This record gives sequence, C-alpha cells and structure tokens, in this order.
Amino acid sequence: MPFFAKPPFDVPMTTTLPPRVPVEDVAAALVADFGVSGMLTPLDGERDQNFRLDSAGTTYVVKVGNLAEGFALASAQMRALGHIAAVDAGLPVPRAVAPSNGSAGAPGRLTFAGQDYPLTLLTWLEGSVMGDTTWPLAHYRALGGMIGRLTRSLRGFSSAALAERALSWNTAHFAPAAEDRARVGAGDRELVDMAVRQFGAEVQPRLPGLPAQVIHGDVHPFNTLVGPDGGISGIIDFGDMIHAPRVLDISNALADCLLPGEDIAAVVHAMLAGYAAVVPLEEDEVACILPLMQARLAMTALITAARRAAGAAVTPQIAALDAVSFRMLRLVQDANLEPVIRRAAAGIEHVAVPAATILRRRLEAMGPKPLLFYDEPLHMLRGEGVWLTASDGRRYLDCYNNVPHVGHSHPHVVAAVSRQLQRLNTNTRYLTDEAITYAERLKETLDPSLDTVIFVNSGSEANDVAWRMANAVTGHTGALCMDFAYHGVTMAADMLSPSNYPPGKWHAPRVRLLEPPDTYRGPLCGKGADAGEAYAAMADAAIRDLSEAGPGVAIAILDSAFMTNGILDAPPGYVAALAARARKAGGLFVADEVQSGFGRMGSHMWGHQRHGIVPDFVTIGKPAGNGYPVGAVITRSDILARFVSETGPFFSTFGGGNAACAAGLAVLDVISREDLVANSFTTGRYLSQRLSGLRQKHALIGDVRGAGLAIGVELVRDRQSLEPAGDETRRIINALRHEGVLIGSDGKWGNVLKIRPPLVFRPEHADLVADALDRVLGNLPPR
Ligand code: PMP
Repeated sequence: MPFFAKPPFDVPMTTTLPPRVPVEDVAAALVADFGVSGMLTPLDGERDQNFRLDSAGTTYVVKVGNLAEGFALASAQMRALGHIAAVDAGLPVPRAVAPSNGSAGAPGRLTFAGQDYPLTLLTWLEGSVMGDTTWPLAHYRALGGMIGRLTRSLRGFSSAALAERALSWNTAHFAPAAEDRARVGAGDRELVDMAVRQFGAEVQPRLPGLPAQVIHGDVHPFNTLVGPDGGISGIIDFGDMIHAPRVLDISNALADCLLPGEDIAAVVHAMLAGYAAVVPLEEDEVACILPLMQARLAMTALITAARRAAGAAVTPQIAALDAVSFRMLRLVQDANLEPVIRRAAAGIEHVAVPAATILRRRLEAMGPKPLLFYDEPLHMLRGEGVWLTASDGRRYLDCYNNVPHVGHSHPHVVAAVSRQLQRLNTNTRYLTDEAITYAERLKETLDPSLDTVIFVNSGSEANDVAWRMANAVTGHTGALCMDFAYHGVTMAADMLSPSNYPPGKWHAPRVRLLEPPDTYRGPLCGKGADAGEAYAAMADAAIRDLSEAGPGVAIAILDSAFMTNGILDAPPGYVAALAARARKAGGLFVADEVQSGFGRMGSHMWGHQRHGIVPDFVTIGKPAGNGYPVGAVITRSDILARFVSETGPFFSTFGGGNAACAAGLAVLDVISREDLVANSFTTGRYLSQRLSGLRQKHALIGDVRGAGLAIGVELVRDRQSLEPAGDETRRIINALRHEGVLIGSDGKWGNVLKIRPPLVFRPEHADLVADALDRVLGNLPPR
C-alpha cells in the first residue's frame, strides 16, 4: 500500500516509551551477540533505549529497540546504513555492526522479562552537537548539501517495514486530532489551524505525485554533529526513517534549524540552495516546502504536548526544538519565505540586486531609450517550458514569447545544440550534414515547388534577401506591405516596417502600404463574404502607383498572422487575391512566416497554408531555433538560379552553421514528437473560448480573434464607437505582470492584448491567463 493511501494521521499523537532494560542485561547481550564489552552510559531516546559504549578504545552507540516497533524496523535501519555506505562511502553517518553470528542486515537479540528486544550496535561519530554550538550561516549550505547526499544515497533503497511504518512524526500525515489541538492555547491553536489549512490546500493534493523514497526524516541540529574544524562531521539517529515524500527530509530540517533572532530567510535560502544543488527539486516539491515546514513546527509542538500530558519523557533535544516551535511557526508564517524558497530551489542567489541598479547598468552599457517590457522591467534569470523565473524569485507564465517555440530551454534542443557545439560548428562552404538535412526536413513541410533553402541568421535578413532576390528576378524594385507591418531591422526590412516609426514618420519611396484586412474595425468590415476580394482590390491603386512611379512590384510581403496589426482574422480569399494581384503586376509573393510558422496557427504547419496559397518565398526566423539564431529563405530553384546568375553565389557566414541547424532540426523533432501543431489548435481553441467568455462579462473586451496560439483581444472603451482602449491595455499588461502572467500588446493603437505563448502551452495554463485577466479587468481602476 503506498504511504499516501493511508488515511490521514488522525489518531492521538504517540506516547510510546523506550524500553527499560537493566544495564547488566544490555551488557550481557552485547557480549553474547557482538563480542564487545565496556562501559555503558545511558543516552536520551524517545522510543529506543540508547547507550554509549566505550570498549577498548572504540566507542559505539547501543540501541535497545522499542518493542512496538520490533525487529523488522531495526533490521531496515541496519540495511539502510549499509546501503548509504555502498552508495556514498564518504557520507558521515554511523555504520551498523553485524552481530558475530548473525547477518549484516539483522540486529542482535536481547531477551528480558520474557520479551525479545532488537539490539543494534552502531559506530560512534565524533563531534559536538550542532544544536549546542553557534553555527555560522555558511555552514547551513553545507548541511543542506549533506541532506541532499543523504536523500540521493537512499534513492535506490527499499524496505517494506519502512513503507508500512506508521510514525506520528510523518509530516506527510499531518492532520492533528481534536484532542491534540485542544492541548494548546487559543493563540497557538490559530497558528496550528493555519498550518493545517495550508497543508490541506498545498500539500495534500500533491502528495500522491511527489517523489517518494526512504528518508532519514529527522535531520535537525541535535542529530547533526560538528567537527573541530567547524564542518559537519556527522548525521546521526536513523530512528525516524520512513518511506515518504523525499522533500520531507529538507523541509523538516529547514523547520528545525530555524531559531528566533536569526535571519530566517538567509538560513532557509542557504540550506535549500545547498540541497537543491545535489537534488534538483520538482515544481510540486517546491510548492510544498513552506507548508511542510509549518506542519513540522506544529507537529513538534503537538507531539511534545501530547507526550507531556501522558507523562511520557520528552528528550532534551525535542524540548529544545519545541521551546521555539510556536514562535518559529508565527515567524515562518509572517516571513514571506515563498520567493526565498523559489530562488533557492532555482539556484538563484539570495541577495537580489535591486532592479534600479540593473536598469542603470543596462542604460550605461547599452544606450538610452531601451525597448523594455513593463513599467517595472523584469530581470529574468531562468526559463523552463512556459515559465520564466525572475530575480524576484517568482515564476512568470510566459504567454507571448514566440522564440522559445517549443518551450524555454527545451532539453532536446539544448542537448542537440550542446552536442553539436562540442563536435563541430562551421559553415556551408563545407559539405555539412546538419544544413543539408535541415534543408531537406524544411522542404518536406512545404509545397514541392518550394524546393530550395537559403540559410541566413534572422527574420530581417531573410526578408531582406528575399526582396533582393525578387529584384534580380523580376527586374522591379518596389514592394507592397501592410500598413503598420513589421518585417525587421535591416535597411530593406525597415522599409517594409512602418510600425518602426511614429505616426507619419515612415517614408520609403519604393514601398506602398496595404489596407489591413480588419473585419472588426476596418473600412470594409460590413462586407461579409466579399470582404476578402474587396480588401485585396484596395491594393490596385498602390500597385498602379508603384508601376507609374518606376519601381514596379518586386514583392508583396505578408505576415499572415497580422501580428503587428493586432492579429487579424483576414476574410476568406484575401491572401490569395492579394498574391494574385502582386503576381499579375510581375511581382513575387513573400510569406513572412516568422510569426505564423511552425504550427503557431494550429491548423497547419505554415500560415500561408491556412490561406490556401503557395508563395514564391517563405521567410523564417525567430521560432525556428527556439532561441538559437536561425533564419532562412525558402524559394523555388528557378528563382535562386536566376539570382545567382545575376549576382554570383550567395553565402552567409553563420547562416546554416551546424549548431544552428542542429537547433532547427531539434525544434522540428519536438514539434512532431509532442504533437505541438495539434496542441496549438486545441489549447488555442480552449483559450479563445475562455477569453470569449470574459467578453460577456467585461465591456472593455471588444473582440477576441486569432487562430491556434496566436490570439488577439481587442480592448475598446465603447463597443459602438470602438474607441481604442490603449492606456487601459498598458495598465492591464502591467497588472497581469504582477499577477505572474506575461502578455504583450500590439496593433496601431496599442489596444490589442497579444497572447502568443510557446506551443507547449496547455489548458491549465490557459486557465491561469483567463482567470488572471478576469481578476485584473474586475479590478481595473478608472482612468
Ligand atoms: N518578420 C516578422 C513578421 C517579425 O515578427 C519579425 C520579428 N519580430 C521579423 C520579421 C524580424 O526578425 P528578426 O528580429 O529575427 O530579424
């Protein structure tokens, strides 16, 4: 039976007493079973009767086991110590001595008054007890690391006795009985009840999923020894071993090491960071640590009170821990330790540099007018999947970075790039497997006519090169792009990017702007089924103008997600009709797939495929390498042939580098293995539904649109006039940031919430966004 399947601990706290065997009988049994004799000095024990044995220059610990717990448990402890020695011989824990005529895993047998007691002989570890010394902060980290090694060394150990052991100290079963609660004063009971509530909310639902194993279970300052050099010289007392969530070893120790007057946050951080460096913690474990610490402190108080009430001995060690338990419980509940725990678990230093200092350094080193997200910029330290961890120790749900397409730091991509960097990273002037394979794999996803891949390093370069090629092939030099489009930073891509400029400042003589096919607020929004053709027809004047002015149409370029326009649902037929017009004018059609590609839109691998067209150029960037720079132009062989015959061969130093292509290949692997295009569709649809639901409730939401995991929420002050709610959008985004949800905004009036998360986004994440947006919209202060 798994430990968590037991009913919660709801019987009164144990009052089991240690055996009381006369010392002469213990001495006789030691001679009989182990062939040792010497001076026996009694030691404290809660359930076992313990002695120190000084025998011919060697010191031992002798344990006469509790009858209620029996031989199986003593044997499990001996085997566990043997296991630790085999896995991590350097870990300073006692060794169990095998009885002279017994086996290594079986204790001796002491018979007294007709009862058989298990008799265990352990080696003595030198050192003073940590709880009796003053303990410098730096050593807490070492203790955390030691506990981590203990957890790690017991990972492969199993024991039926420990799995079935019912131990009142098992923090996983924290659920005090009414009579235990009744023993403490009203003020303290409140603290206990708070701990019970947090345990119920945070720990209980996670228990079945927590990694579990045999643990020591009781590492505290009185079970930790300090050597003459001040370092830890031993962890002792394996009497509370149990099969339980492994995180209890560190959460119990964290609770027990705290003392009033200390910098609690610093102690918790140091110990946990030391532990996490050895045993990386899972997210659910991290979430349980604080409530488990509170449970441990409450249990110490309740069990001690129960023992006192029953007249049972309370060891001086437990008494010392108990003396501060309620004070510490209050301090822990008040100390805002959650971010400290998160930072420690993520390996982030405790003393976070103030954001203002980092901002100043950034301005000094990288220039003024930085483009930074949020009024209070975030200092990011780590990413994993859909989560980003900032220097404030919080995890933020990333809902708008489309570069980590398959999730931040996806292990498959990281491994592929690292492997490649270790082996070879050169350029396409050699024959290189990665570039050829990546080109082949990209082609497989596209129309067969798009049979030629030219590697560059970014979306900007891809668009720049596509336009250059089109100039050579068409003999024209002009371009059509969407009003308020963005296609990049190079001189050429910038001309295609009116969104780079304040209103009225964009100027590019060879470029004409297209009317965004907006079915919510555009000039043709009442047109119904004809809107696609009608919007495309609005390009005719621009085409005529370009031809008459001289440049003619070399390209029409389109991001079919219409990201900068606020993620438009282009009317059916629009894209095809526009491409047809560009071609009729002698131009070529560029599908800029930097935003819409790699399954973002849910129904297809590429955005243009949704619109039923085959472009002349596909340009890719951002998501292609999941953060490693990868860019490419994919076109027809006849176009490249014409281009190189006019200009000579094309080569970009980093474009198509082995590591870049390894990243690109790994991204394609993950998209298919994790079925991310389908996930984009289903999760995107779910999120859209949730957001549309909010539209019923919040008048500010004018429109919810998009496809797959590219979702726009347009905010308006009035659903009749459609007055854009730009300022509100900015405030909402900043408020969501404080809710731990990161989204962006876009659109000419900055009034469209842009939700464009990594494709590993799941419905539970969608719920987090929708719930947070609901709260923020409900609390939005008037302007
Ligand atoms: N095209 C589109 C549609 C983009 O969104 C972007 C980048 N946001 C680019 C091109 C430019 O890509 P890069 O920043 O890699 O040069």
